[in-house]
Amino acid sequence: MRDLIYGLAAIVLLGSCQTSSGVSKDRISQNKQNPVVMMPGTNPIVLLIHGGAGSARPGGMPEEDEAEYRAALSDALTAGYTILQAGGSSLDAVQASLTILEDDPLFNAGRGSVLSANGKVSMDASVMDGSNRNAGAVAGINEIRHPVLAASAVMNNSPHVLLFGSGAEQFAKDQGLETMPESWFITEPRVRQLNRIKQKERKTQNSKLDSTSYFGTVGAVALDTNGNLAAATSTGGMTNKKWGRVGDSPIIGAGIYADNQSCAVSATGWGEYFIRGTVARDICARIQWTGANAQLAADQEIAEIVEAGGSGGVLVLTPDGDYAFSFSTAVMFRGVRTEAGEEVAIFASHGNRQLTD
Ligand code: ASP
Repeated sequence: MRDLIYGLAAIVLLGSCQTSSGVSKDRISQNKQNPVVMMPGTNPIVLLIHGGAGSARPGGMPEEDEAEYRAALSDALTAGYTILQAGGSSLDAVQASLTILEDDPLFNAGRGSVLSANGKVSMDASVMDGSNRNAGAVAGINEIRHPVLAASAVMNNSPHVLLFGSGAEQFAKDQGLETMPESWFITEPRVRQLNRIKQKERKTQNSKLDSTSYFGTVGAVALDTNGNLAAATSTGGMTNKKWGRVGDSPIIGAGIYADNQSCAVSATGWGEYFIRGTVARDICARIQWTGANAQLAADQEIAEIVEAGGSGGVLVLTPDGDYAFSFSTAVMFRGVRTEAGEEVAIFASHGNRQLTD
């Protein structure tokens, strides 16, 4: 009798998971009335990454540079997706993608981080596990080779969510994470970039951060075969930032969020606006409470950022594999890998969902 009741319950449950299009969505979470139903090991796997958003360079991007960016994004997608394909967790996948981008001086994270006004590196990073909303973050570090792994160590091995400065460095070292001298993180192009911006600042007597000064923050969101979402974001912040400034990237709910009940988000852009707008959590709340799809929720939120005077972009991924890129800038380095294949794009003209030209 008990077996019969369980059998009937399973049939009702599966029946309720059919969408209007007839496609089976085995763990839908559009709102609280449709609670998440996990089917371990049977879910679609998806990985999205970004390498920052910003304005186009005057004169455009040389073809060789574009090819280098595309290759780097593709390598990062492969690293994370290989883990997902092997049945690994979304958390491991986003970290694998980000460690590759952190080592690549093309991007503003780890090696190649932008420089603060004092010529130093000050990196922020975060991770979040959508299965339990555990999160970890570090801010203002300058010696840990992979800030995303430091954030992960905070989540897994400390009672805290966010560690800052020398305390964060010490903790990461105690965890056995690899260190590098600060000079390893600082690259020539970043020194020139800081000098250019300082010169402009002197000329215009304007100490506002300008929109070309953020570019290259890295982030990833993933959905694994067990239906778990995860997100990670890592950055050197904004060029010429001052006085121990911390951006949105390590702020849970601003530059990152992940919750199996709604979505996973990684953001890039003018951090002050993303903090004030609690952008990442807001996107997930729109999905969770209004039933918006990923694209609509992301577009609405980015429109609010623009209205407030900021700019930037986001990756969004829901537990049923619906995903979106949304950004207000001319450029957002981005890529997606699903069972259907890989796509990588750079310019706004490449669109949000159809990434190829
Ligand atoms: N959001 C980062 C910050 O404000 C910068 C970026 O995304 O490029 O620190």
